[in-house]
Amino acid sequence: MKFKFLHPRDEIIEIINRIYQNGMTTTSGGNLSILDEDGSIWITPKGVDKGTLKPEDIVRVLPDGSADGKYEPSSELPFHKAIYNARQDIKAIVHAHPPALVSFAITRKIPDTRIIPKASELCGTVGYAKYALPGSDKLGEVISGVFKQNNNTVLMENHGIVTVGNSLMHAFQRLESLDFCARLTLKANILGKVKVLTNEDIALSQRKISLDDFEFKNHSSKEKELRKNIISLIHRSYFQHLVTSMEGTFSARIQGDAFIITPWGMDRKYLSEEDLVLIDGSKKEDGKDPSRSVMLHREIYEKNPGINAIFIAHPPNIMAFGISGVKFDSRTIPESYLVLRDVPTLPYGLEFSKGENRNINIANIISDTVPIVICENDCIIVTGSSLVQGYDRLEVAEFSAKSIIASKSIGDVIPIGKYEITELEKAFNL
Ligand SMILES: [Zn+2]
Repeated sequence: MKFKFLHPRDEIIEIINRIYQNGMTTTSGGNLSILDEDGSIWITPKGVDKGTLKPEDIVRVLPDGSADGKYEPSSELPFHKAIYNARQDIKAIVHAHPPALVSFAITRKIPDTRIIPKASELCGTVGYAKYALPGSDKLGEVISGVFKQNNNTVLMENHGIVTVGNSLMHAFQRLESLDFCARLTLKANILGKVKVLTNEDIALSQRKISLDDFEFKNHSSKEKELRKNIISLIHRSYFQHLVTSMEGTFSARIQGDAFIITPWGMDRKYLSEEDLVLIDGSKKEDGKDPSRSVMLHREIYEKNPGINAIFIAHPPNIMAFGISGVKFDSRTIPESYLVLRDVPTLPYGLEFSKGENRNINIANIISDTVPIVICENDCIIVTGSSLVQGYDRLEVAEFSAKSIIASKSIGDVIPIGKYEITELEKAFNL
């Protein structure tokens, strides 16, 4: 989907549907707007079901203040106007009440985006707006005052969240990333103390890619089949919250040094077969940008001939272990141990540096008996001999982590004992 040519009405509908389907707003809560070139504001209507909104329901508020549409504009129009007046660079606004962010708003605590490099890069520091009556000019004054201090995301005391951007997609990505941070923090705090990254740590994640453009003339039927299968899994993983719109890298080996990988900077929900990037040795498909983790994928394939699929993802439950430093123990149920084996947590940053520059090499740690590693404050790397095996491992890791976190409200986890583990290993030839 190309947002560049979408009418503001259609853009608002597309994004409100994503927010609603992601469980980040209720039928009545939240509102979105886009500032048009002529100064008009396109905004969601007042009191219409967010689950069934249509493009013709979107209201246009002209620069003279008059409204054009079937319904009245959102009652929060005053704060949208105040934000556009406060900052010329803001072209779109999203306001919602996602449950995890509301948890922060009602405990009056600001979520820290420095727990994950991408969230920090996308959202920056979160501003804080004191409570004021919904729909009032006072609320507009308070919120726009915080945006004037160059925040791009603002937590509203006892209310919700506002994010802004140079497009509606940009504002949505910030909302999604911040909601992810909030969910992650809530879960990690159940396990232990959350670790926050420094600015130097965050700068490490800005990797450079040194691959040459190359025009591949032939694409084998195996490659075409793998493209189709990766796309199907990446769409599935988006709906399962295993990846977000901008994060999550999947790759599959075609043969030898050749593999295909997800691109950098493209929305996971709309990816199609032709967006994937073919890599062969030190060459990449011309004109395309592979994921920034491409060199790590290449190294893992080089060192592990039995691995044919790699998934780098950020599911909130398993990542709660990754940001709290608490050891993830897969000996919960037989399936988890058999599928996941021992899952080490590696210190932050190893996944960004080149092999020759580090003492510990991820590609050497990963093996048949260690198919998964958690990279502290960043991601989980899951491998498999096939896409299906790897994807299953990713799901089992997230489900197991979810069970462990949820179990904290009823008692301590009692892992499967040593004798039973030996018995399992014998029975399943591990
Ligand atoms: Zn609200």
